[in-house]
Amino acid sequence: ASNSTSNDEIIAYRKRHLGKSLSLQYKTPIKMVRGAGQYLLDQYGRKYLDTVNNVAHVGHEHPDVVKAGQEQMALINTNTRYLHENINNLAKELLETLPTELSVLHFVNSGSEANELAIRMVKAVTGEKDIIASEVGYHGNTNMCIDISSYKFDGKGGKGAPEHTHIFPLPDAFRGNYRGEQTGEAYAGEVQKQIDIIHGKGRGVGGFIIEPIISCGGQINLPEGFLDLAYKNVRAAGGLCISDEVQVGCGRMGKTFWGFQLHGVIPDIVTIGKPLGNGHPLAAVACTKEVAEKFANGMEFFNTFGGNPVSCAIGAEVIKVVKRERLQAHALKVGEFLKSELKKLAMDFPIIGDVRGEGLFLGIELVDASMNPLAEQTDYLANRMKDHGILMSTDGPDHNVLKIKPPMVFTLENAKELIFYLRKILAEDFMKMTAEEIK
Ligand code: PMP
Repeated sequence: ASNSTSNDEIIAYRKRHLGKSLSLQYKTPIKMVRGAGQYLLDQYGRKYLDTVNNVAHVGHEHPDVVKAGQEQMALINTNTRYLHENINNLAKELLETLPTELSVLHFVNSGSEANELAIRMVKAVTGEKDIIASEVGYHGNTNMCIDISSYKFDGKGGKGAPEHTHIFPLPDAFRGNYRGEQTGEAYAGEVQKQIDIIHGKGRGVGGFIIEPIISCGGQINLPEGFLDLAYKNVRAAGGLCISDEVQVGCGRMGKTFWGFQLHGVIPDIVTIGKPLGNGHPLAAVACTKEVAEKFANGMEFFNTFGGNPVSCAIGAEVIKVVKRERLQAHALKVGEFLKSELKKLAMDFPIIGDVRGEGLFLGIELVDASMNPLAEQTDYLANRMKDHGILMSTDGPDHNVLKIKPPMVFTLENAKELIFYLRKILAEDFMKMTAEEIK
């Protein structure tokens, strides 16, 4: 399609020939034609500030990343059965950021593939297939990933948890089963309950998978102490622990390079996705030597595209840019400023019930005085921000969490602009309407 194709024509064609379960953002969908840093340009040349895209990690179309991909693409792209230094270079860049215990890498093409491989590793190493995961967790679009994603199987079109999936309640200290700061132990107890259920069925625990901040669950910070205790329980039962870093990894947390490091634990398997290729399909699984050795049971792991020289050139450059441009420290500085400004906003507008997250991975939750979720207001806020040229996303089981996870080059000035418009829109009449009035 040329640039002159009208949006209506594009939409009409999609309706006829693209899958119906693909969705579009916004009531009037936008056609983006260009990206640069933390900005996107639509077909009319309108500039948007992007607070959504944690895939364009070091900035949309970062010139160094584009160049690395272009140069390698012009030379050779093959599979991993030929030697190439790019795969080693990417491995070295990643291993520098990981604890020494996680010393072996497998490269794949998406977060889903990474989690799919992680679960295969769990099955190969433990001989068990029972997996414990969080309520409202999302881990990918393949059969196995959907089977461990309560966000999907407990949602529209879902059929509930499969026999070998064991879901514990969302460890949400704001509106969950246990509330407040001292809830880590109680939620770890819920993980233990699932372990007991598996044992009660005469089976053993395969693995435990969770994000360090539960993204689709509504940017849920894990309560202090929870992950450490949950890991101990799972390991005592012979299970492996997987940290899904697809959304939060590669420096975004600010304080740490990886999310699990916020909690002082070391997983057996770490899955890495979205940011690693800055938009190019590239993902990875890091694991311990023990896991890698047991996984290599004689069956070859072959992946046509995983670890190819072009993807690896891109991935290595992304990690180098994070290091060179000190984006982790930048995420900490800008993220802490933004979080404190959001907290000030919450003082002025009580509709903001909670401000949470780490680094440049934040969320605000909108509730009424009785803690009921305010989905309409959240949707309104995101749509009005778009009118002002700022892209934001919403999520959470009750669709009342506004998420902030911009490209890491997002500046203090961008944060101030974001706060300025949030303040303006929070003061609009719609934000004060009751559910009855909205109906
Ligand atoms: N894990 C998490 C936490 C995710 O958010 C996603 C994607 N939203 C995935 C895994 C799957 O990644 P992909 O879409 O690249 O397959």
